[in-house]
Amino acid sequence: MAAGSAIQIPSRLPLLLTHESVLLPGSTMRTSVDSPRNMQLVRSRLLKGTSLRSTIIGVIPNTSDPTSDCDDLPNLHRIGTAALAVQVVGSNWPKPHYTLLVTGLCRFQILQLLKEKPYPVAEVQQLDRLEQFTNGHKSEEELGELSEQFYKYAVQLVEMLDMSVPAVAKLRRLLDNLPREALPDILTSIIRTTNQEKLQILDAVRLEERFKMTIPLLVRQIEGLKLLQKTRKSKQDDDKRVVAIRPNRRISHGSITEDEEEEEDHDDVVMLEKKIRTSSMSEQALKVCLKEIKRLKKMPQSMPEYALTRNYLELMVELPWNKSTKDRLEIRAARIVLDNDHYAMEKLKKRVLEYLAVRQLKNNLKGPILCFVGPPGVGKTSVGRSIAKTLGREFHRIALGGVCDQSDIRGHRRTYVGSMPGRIINGLKTVGVNNPVFLLDEVDKLAKSLQGDPAAALLEVLDPEQNHSFTDHYLNVAFDLSQVLFIATANTTATIPPALLDRMEVIQVPGYTQEEKIEIAHRHLIPKQLEQHGLTPQQIQIPQVTTLGIITRYTREAGVRALDRKLGAICRAVAVKVAEGQHKEAKPDRAEVGEGEDCKEHITEDAKPESISDTADLALPPEMPILIDFHALKDILGPPMYDMEVSERLSQPGVAIGLAWTPLGGEIMFVEASRMDGEGQLTLTGQLGDVMKESAHLAISWLRSNAKRYQLTNASGSFDLLDNTDIHLHFPAGAVTKDGPSAGVTIVTCLASLFSGRLVCSDVAMTGEITLRGLVLPVGGIKDKVLAAHRAGLKRIIIPQRNEKDLEEIAVPVRQDLTFVLAGCLDEVLNAAFDGGFAGRARLEQLNSKL
Ligand code: ADP
Repeated sequence: MAAGSAIQIPSRLPLLLTHESVLLPGSTMRTSVDSPRNMQLVRSRLLKGTSLRSTIIGVIPNTSDPTSDCDDLPNLHRIGTAALAVQVVGSNWPKPHYTLLVTGLCRFQILQLLKEKPYPVAEVQQLDRLEQFTNGHKSEEELGELSEQFYKYAVQLVEMLDMSVPAVAKLRRLLDNLPREALPDILTSIIRTTNQEKLQILDAVRLEERFKMTIPLLVRQIEGLKLLQKTRKSKQDDDKRVVAIRPNRRISHGSITEDEEEEEDHDDVVMLEKKIRTSSMSEQALKVCLKEIKRLKKMPQSMPEYALTRNYLELMVELPWNKSTKDRLEIRAARIVLDNDHYAMEKLKKRVLEYLAVRQLKNNLKGPILCFVGPPGVGKTSVGRSIAKTLGREFHRIALGGVCDQSDIRGHRRTYVGSMPGRIINGLKTVGVNNPVFLLDEVDKLAKSLQGDPAAALLEVLDPEQNHSFTDHYLNVAFDLSQVLFIATANTTATIPPALLDRMEVIQVPGYTQEEKIEIAHRHLIPKQLEQHGLTPQQIQIPQVTTLGIITRYTREAGVRALDRKLGAICRAVAVKVAEGQHKEAKPDRAEVGEGEDCKEHITEDAKPESISDTADLALPPEMPILIDFHALKDILGPPMYDMEVSERLSQPGVAIGLAWTPLGGEIMFVEASRMDGEGQLTLTGQLGDVMKESAHLAISWLRSNAKRYQLTNASGSFDLLDNTDIHLHFPAGAVTKDGPSAGVTIVTCLASLFSGRLVCSDVAMTGEITLRGLVLPVGGIKDKVLAAHRAGLKRIIIPQRNEKDLEEIAVPVRQDLTFVLAGCLDEVLNAAFDGGFAGRARLEQLNSKL
């Protein structure tokens, strides 16, 4: 260290505010940086800067509390140490922070603060190590005796130490080589001193004063050592090691003295070792941990690896290697819990009970993982939670949506900066037992990226043959996951990687019928919302017709999540009224009905007096219970979002209603066609996939070949439908990509309506794939599609004949509400879709196979 040469620091310095440690010129310190201001300084100055100048910062000690410095800048100590940032290490665990290695250059004082944000910058004046101090040995001569005395004590101290330790020998050499004026700072930073003492030395700008203040500290240390040597003679060597001056030791922590702290740390490591030895971790893990703790003992605390190793060991101790909850599985009780928590979902509950029963009889979990597949809000997650409840196990949900890095599942290797375990191991640490229920939510939304395929990592987790020795990269030892009960959920199986799907048993969870939704609302959602909003049934009453109104006019979904939100909105509105009412009840004499009427314009005659729309503006407290009727609904939720638009949209030829399946449940879809003069071109819009485009071409070809039979003509009356005519087919909603063959019959019907000029019945929806010969082939998702048609208030549904078996799965009330037309060929479809049928002229022998 060229401690004797003169240096020149910049006149403006960014300031690093430290709380717990004092850096003195000539010494080095490692400090952890996590407050916003200091982090900014590191990011924008140290990490971005390219010149040596940009690595010089001012370290201001004793700043009140650097973590709360997001608001006003705390009072700054006037004197600081200019320092060179030698190393920056970043880490994200347990929270984002940097570790800085800084070497003190010289003292400075703050002249003026230039800016406070994002990090403070000050105009500074250098106080020592200037040209005039270092030229010649003037200062040394002046100080003469003082400096000599100091030097003697320093030599005496060092010689009391074990000279065989290389660091001590080096220090002895330094004493001779360093200029005397640098010694007080350096020795103060390495002997045992409190922060307060260090601060005093920092503030002692005059060299003479500094010498004077340091000598007593040296003497104290020498006395301490003498005492120690006397009392613990037998263990002299050890003591020296513990008390030894450690030139490398640079971090000190706040108010506790280093002595206490060191002992504490030592104790901690011993405790940790004890914990490791007494923990029930596997043999392999124990071996690794003991090796690591051995390394830890030898490591200086200031090494970044020290913290990493310690975190690792602490995690290893915390993991539930052998800790589990006791399963209390009783099938009858499980059935009751499932029934109490969830209405309907019979098929799902049946399968879950079977699964649990098998587990009860055969005490192992080998078998497929259950995967609930269905639209959002149908209760997949909450069934998972109920399963954990019935088993008396801990529940943990792992959201996999958007996870694209396999280390999310399997952790980062410890060599990475900021490495941490994957979500599985983290989950186990959180629940603290090794047999929880893990719900892997949204497995269909796993993504792939350059960082590897998380689905492949999940394979190992889910495979009962492999998961007893799951190795997280961070742990680097096997952990037994075979006791964990995994349940997966997804919206669709289409995007689940096949290998993963292969290990799961898919249980479809379809959407709910209106009746089921009403029951769910009244049995589960409303009581839950009332409780959440602090309301009682005596304060609010939601009749079933209102619930039906919300379901049909304010939501259009397969599940009940939007319904739940709307009920929440109603409860919030009522809570305001109730709270206001309570307030008014307290001083009822001042309330007058007339006042309220003045400011009210929309009171309707048929509004019931106790509805919320009336009570809203009346000054009298509302009459309890507040009844939620349609007027109140409109007041709270606004005008209905979904009115029965179906018949309006079918008021022109060239529109038909199809049924589509999406991961969010079934949907009705209006297919529109128009024709114009042109050259026989077909335009398709609405973001269609290739299969759907082919269906459109098929439909046109079939209609062209059967135009005469059905009397279909173009605008000029010709049976050649595309002669001088362009056709445009559109599938709303245009922003959603659609694909699949099931729109075939709808396109045919829509075009038949366009070319015949007849309207398609407004209460009929249809689905089915077509062939060039006019046959209707079966399609998937019938149950969801039928529910969507039912939700939309349609009455008749045309489905392929071969889908008849799927109707059995549909709830009886829905089936009773609807008429199903089972169509084997397009002729039957057209006959059913138009009022009065759509008979062709002559029945062709199209179904007589020659084969
Ligand atoms: P998913 O995981 O399928 O998206 P959730 O499990 O989050 O849906 O369910 C959404 C909400 O609907 C939850 O509050 C749940 O309790 C409720 N819910 C859904 N289905 C039912 C049901 N059959 N009975 C009672 N509550 C239900």
